[in-house]
Amino acid sequence: MPCNVSTLQIPQAIVDELIAHARELAPHECCGFLAGKEGIVTHLYRVTNVVALEGAVDAASFDEAKLAHLGRLSPDERAEVAFVMDSQDMFKAVKDMRKQGLDLQVVYHSHPHDPARPSVTDIKIATEWEDNWPKFNLPLPAYLLISLQDPNRPDVKLYSIQANRVSPASFTIDTPAVR
Ligand SMILES: [Zn+2]
Repeated sequence: MPCNVSTLQIPQAIVDELIAHARELAPHECCGFLAGKEGIVTHLYRVTNVVALEGAVDAASFDEAKLAHLGRLSPDERAEVAFVMDSQDMFKAVKDMRKQGLDLQVVYHSHPHDPARPSVTDIKIATEWEDNWPKFNLPLPAYLLISLQDPNRPDVKLYSIQANRVSPASFTIDTPAVR
């Protein structure tokens, strides 16, 4: 089990940043990483969603049905239903985490039109990535979804995804004490 999931603390400021990122990119999906130390999130790294760029979809690990569907959409439309993290952004973020002695804790992305639940494709990609994190000497991250389905009430949920199985993960939102 990812050791950082059950105790994850996310400051309100980071939650606000997540929602702001999702809103900025809507109707496209946004994506990125959260990192910190000892189960407390301290940093947010935005990663470019390159699914809107030509060619990115073929390189990603979508199943055939999803590929066929995405192939019928314009690059712009694709970014509304899928995300592919820009690898340069990813490595830049990971490099910075190493430099600052932070742990990768969470991979996040938004669902502009859908609930804050991992899609079939999300689960498939997360499962495939299970083997990749150790190769980069990174811990298994939790997955955070931001839903803008109800634009006035963004929904944020955390999951652990392992071997095609999704389980909700609890987290606390840390509100700064009122002075
Ligand atoms: Zn998704």
